[in-house]
Amino acid sequence: MQKTSEQRTHLVLENYIKGKFVRCQSHIDSYNPSTGEVYCKLPDSGKDEVDAAVAAAKEAFPAWSARSPEQRARVLNKMADLMEAKLEEFALAESMDQGKTVMFARTVDIPRAVYNLRFFASSVLHHTTACSQMDHLGCVNYTVRCPVGVAGLISPWNLPLYLLTWKIAPAVAMGNTVVAKPSEMTSVTAWMMCELMEEAGVPPGVINVVFGTGPRAGDALVGHPDVPLVSFTGSTATAQRIAERSAPYCKRLSLELGGKNPALVFADADLDECVATTVRSSFSNQGEICLCTSRIYVERSIYVQFLEKFVAAARKWRTGDPCDPSNNNGALISREHLEKVRGFVALARAEGGTVHCGEGVDALQLPERHAAGYFMPATVISGMADSSRVMQEEIFGPVACVAPFDGEEEAVARGNGVRYGLAATVWSRDVGRVHRVAQRLQAGLVWTNCWLVRDLNLPFGGMKSSGVGREGGKDSYHFFTEVKTITVKH
Ligand code: NAD
Repeated sequence: MQKTSEQRTHLVLENYIKGKFVRCQSHIDSYNPSTGEVYCKLPDSGKDEVDAAVAAAKEAFPAWSARSPEQRARVLNKMADLMEAKLEEFALAESMDQGKTVMFARTVDIPRAVYNLRFFASSVLHHTTACSQMDHLGCVNYTVRCPVGVAGLISPWNLPLYLLTWKIAPAVAMGNTVVAKPSEMTSVTAWMMCELMEEAGVPPGVINVVFGTGPRAGDALVGHPDVPLVSFTGSTATAQRIAERSAPYCKRLSLELGGKNPALVFADADLDECVATTVRSSFSNQGEICLCTSRIYVERSIYVQFLEKFVAAARKWRTGDPCDPSNNNGALISREHLEKVRGFVALARAEGGTVHCGEGVDALQLPERHAAGYFMPATVISGMADSSRVMQEEIFGPVACVAPFDGEEEAVARGNGVRYGLAATVWSRDVGRVHRVAQRLQAGLVWTNCWLVRDLNLPFGGMKSSGVGREGGKDSYHFFTEVKTITVKH
């Protein structure tokens, strides 16, 4: 009998290795961010557990990679159906584990996790490889693609199941077997997914999930000689350690990292549409999305008007009980993270910035049950120098900074003036300008007059310190397969 999510309080998670749940000797606590109480205990896995998982994945690889794409797709589609049937249960668990609203998990995280599985189950059926003739030499060349082997998949806490399935689905669809390590702060929905594997027909060893911290479980996975490929989503600092750790093995790496994303708002923008979308792009999921807007540059002639409307809209962005459907935001992931984000607001004040709303200005009215939760209201700051830490570093919370600019040239230069290059938004009704500016922005994704519209067929990833490599339809196919050129003389 399945437990409901409410009954899952104080869950004790187990690793999932070779088709079985396996107990671990020691555990670590994971908290419900909206109450500050322990939500679950998860395995504190280390080298032994990772070794067992990699061995299981290696053993399962020959048979799984020999299956046809259709057979593998059938398993992924079944997983998607089973997950969708429990959407509400998954959404509640994601909210309790991460702090986000149930509504966000119900409408974004879990539907997207289901779609990731279906998308790659379908896309693996449609790839073709290259062929070229050399008639003068009597040769024909063609390429084949084959799975790489055991994939190490490491994901962060902000979109837990969404980002884990974004890796598992393509890896497994292409015929690899995997060892996944979710964030130690949000492991529950990954564990719930493991409960579906047998019924979905995932053969033992094809998908293994090892829980634990980055320095122990994550490091053991990255440093394992039988894991030739690592797909990582997380912070730039961790990616640097992963790159160093995997360098001696020449591993294939995909690194999806942090951002400090600009919005450029030109005077001819549809202001109401822009304000409504920019509030969403700045504060959704507590600002804990790598694609969230954090620097808003506004053309000087509409700066005052924009700021007034934006602050008014941010004040209406409600923060509180994640189960209350009228709330837009729930709690931040941890007390440490809340303190870090608050620290940036304090720094902004100390450096002469103006805090228009949110932290330290508007008090939150929280129900008693959430008094110890890690909540913070949507916060808008202005008056910061572009060189300040607040304008340069990833805050990853509900904080947006607004500043005026003069002219297109300056807007582009200031938008590009950070070490990150993940996403940007451009607001203008001038078609020529949106193309011109989009092409000059150093960002892997540029949205013009919209935000977070994603076609999974197209590349996803960042420039500069925001990442190495791209994932998405064809890019995931390339990353999770090896290509070989074969020449036949006839
Ligand atoms: P993090 O780097 O602290 O952790 C990410 C994962 O790496 C976790 O599973 C963690 O346990 C693991 N890890 C930590 N140290 C490790 C090590 N030494 N070896 C191997 N694994 C290790 O990141 P986070 O705080 O969980 O996530 C927030 C960050 O993720 C932000 O910077 C955000 O921008 C970024 N992010 C990027 C994208 C993207 O697609 N570009 C998406 C979501 C989040």
